[in-house]
Amino acid sequence: MATLPAEIIIEQKMINSTSPKYLNIKIIIVAAISAFACFQSCSPSKPPLTGNLPAQLYYTADDYKSVEKINTHVHIRMDDTTFLNLAAADNFRVLNVSVNSPSAPPIEKQRNISVRLIKSYPTRISYATTISVKNWNSEAWQQEMIYFLKESFDMGAVGVKVWKNIGMDLRDKNGKFVMIDDPRFDPIIDFIEKSNKTLIGHLGEPRNCWLPIEKMTVQGDKDYFKAHPQYHMYLHPEYPSYEDQLNAKDRMLAKHPNLRFVGAHLGSLEWSVDELAKRLDRFPNMAVDMAERISHLQYQAVTDWQKVHDFFIKYQDRLIYATDQRVDSTQIPSQRNTEAHESWLRHWKFFTSDEKMKVPKVEKEFKGLKLPREVVDKIYRKNAEKWFPEMAKLH
Ligand SMILES: [Zn+2]
Repeated sequence: MATLPAEIIIEQKMINSTSPKYLNIKIIIVAAISAFACFQSCSPSKPPLTGNLPAQLYYTADDYKSVEKINTHVHIRMDDTTFLNLAAADNFRVLNVSVNSPSAPPIEKQRNISVRLIKSYPTRISYATTISVKNWNSEAWQQEMIYFLKESFDMGAVGVKVWKNIGMDLRDKNGKFVMIDDPRFDPIIDFIEKSNKTLIGHLGEPRNCWLPIEKMTVQGDKDYFKAHPQYHMYLHPEYPSYEDQLNAKDRMLAKHPNLRFVGAHLGSLEWSVDELAKRLDRFPNMAVDMAERISHLQYQAVTDWQKVHDFFIKYQDRLIYATDQRVDSTQIPSQRNTEAHESWLRHWKFFTSDEKMKVPKVEKEFKGLKLPREVVDKIYRKNAEKWFPEMAKLH
């Protein structure tokens, strides 16, 4: 058996005691010793929930470039190659996600940009298509969309994104909000599942969206909702509530248990790892991407580091690294790339080190999670390859 740390050896003496007052302690100690011994001799596939592992089981800042990584949520909306060159230099593959948003080019144009980029960078980039709800109220809508998806899959799409306009903007002929569990989506979702593709759902918004600006927890949300009052639900109490959004998504997932689903932006449950854990328990084919919501995990780490750390250990197979960076003609490419690179480094530091950190979107200081290598590999690559199997072939 492996050598035990000193404190366990001291406590081991108590195991030989027959006194009942040691009974509970005995059980705990025996479990601790077994776990430690197993960790020493078993495969490292199950890291212990907490505790320090030998240094070689953690990555450092120096490993950032050499570790293969995937970012499953970016929006490259022009024929720019500088961002992909940066991703390549930092050892990232990316998933370029189309969106049916009024601020994005038409979905056919987004698709063409992705297809051209894939041609130039076949080992660096994949793309996810999306569905348009522009003709929702037409009889032909379902057929049109299934045809568009089939064509997109033939052109290399590995997934399909649905956006928050479903639930927050789209209305039926009677003026009622259309939610994602509307039966008219079912044949389309079935087609995605049958085609062995992944549905990415940005459904609802962060809970902050239903709060006044001054009550919001992170700076990113304050800035976004100040700039986009049309999506700031606190200002639109007649719209579906936060709970309505989550419930509609839950009902859709319950109808499609075999669908491979990625909840974008931590599944809009960014504010509480406990609430997110409940949904991950309930829907085993659901993973979540962290796009633009890592600050919410950092915010929770300010007050409950241990809980956030343990959540990452427990759900290490269900969390996918992503950032939501945009590439469009409104930006200065060099500045955009510098900011992107700096944020990727901050994320790496948060996940791999236990240093104290301050970041632009979180007011207070917090400590890095220092996740074991194996967990880092899962959140940065392996989980993405599982939920988007075609991305595993991009070597
Ligand atoms: Zn996005």
